[in-house]
Amino acid sequence: MSYFSFEIVHTSKKSRARVGRIHTPHGIIETPNFVPVGTNGALKAIDSVLVDKLDVQLMFCNTYHLMLQPGPDLIQSAGGLHTFINRKKPIITDSGGFQVFSLMYGGITAELKSSGAKKENNSVLKINEDGVLFRSYRDGSEILLTPESSVQAQKKFGSDIIIPLDELPPFNMNPRKLLNSFERTHRWEKRSLEEHLKTPNNQAMYAVIHGGIDPELRKKSAEIANNQAFDGHAIGGSMGENHEQMFTMLDGLLPHLAYERPIHLLGIGDLKAIMPFVLKGIDTMDSSYPTKCARHGVLFTTQGTVKLMNSKYRDLHEPIDKNCPCHTCTNYTVSYLRHLFKAHELSAYTLASIHNIHFMINYMAEIRSKIMNDEI
Ligand SMILES: [Zn+2]
Repeated sequence: MSYFSFEIVHTSKKSRARVGRIHTPHGIIETPNFVPVGTNGALKAIDSVLVDKLDVQLMFCNTYHLMLQPGPDLIQSAGGLHTFINRKKPIITDSGGFQVFSLMYGGITAELKSSGAKKENNSVLKINEDGVLFRSYRDGSEILLTPESSVQAQKKFGSDIIIPLDELPPFNMNPRKLLNSFERTHRWEKRSLEEHLKTPNNQAMYAVIHGGIDPELRKKSAEIANNQAFDGHAIGGSMGENHEQMFTMLDGLLPHLAYERPIHLLGIGDLKAIMPFVLKGIDTMDSSYPTKCARHGVLFTTQGTVKLMNSKYRDLHEPIDKNCPCHTCTNYTVSYLRHLFKAHELSAYTLASIHNIHFMINYMAEIRSKIMNDEI
């Protein structure tokens, strides 16, 4: 279709890494690229104008949060998410399912300790073929999230890339239950695609690839997605207990995904994982990691991380990185930033986040240039 396309500019001679351009109605996303998470329609501590200046080409927003506050109707009445938050470049939203199921199973850390049993007092009331019924954490009201209602919310947002509703099963769910969840997820995704295609609205929809760490299920999920009119892939579901299991799963899965569609990896983008992802052929990945680190005073540099609270930085009257052209490094020293953190000044979070996002965007640009030169 004309409003969305993926152009592969160069494939490395050394790996499966590729440089591409995703064309959307709000501009081009150069890939591989990092996608920062602005849960509530804002990167934490950085406003949309600054995000734009940092050249963030794709921003990830969470349907679950925006659906509960301020709500899809209000965002639509403002002219859509781009107008509401004053962002001119592309936006991707998820289905809301991830947060609903994370609340149910208690997130990734707790998940690894559980046997997939439901948490007591969880906010999920019922899951069936229709969708998932949950209780709003804001006002206690009951909300039924269905494949159709999630797509409709994302239509009202007008995000460039939308995601179908899926179930996030816990990592160690028993195989029979996992298979049931897998099959229902793909039925939900098919319904989502049908709902989306009724009114495409210049939006693209990525399929979510499931199957946990079972290579056969992952392959099957890829085949199901390839055979439907999705515009891209988003690798989701449980990815294992550690990076090693995740990388093994990806090595098995990636050759099966339709090559001409962009591949996104949902929710993981720490510095150690990015290079392996790129070498395996992943095009984009979203994570709140750089902004979260920034708010804890952990800053990225080419020489490793700077933990501002460490006393050795008390009188370091130099920028975080002398070669970094970002607003923070151009104007402020490590000693002053450390002081801001210690004094709980709010500008500390903004200045640290600006530097870390700048670092990630710059890091991805360097990776693209290395692929173009067949260095990686
Ligand atoms: Zn900087």
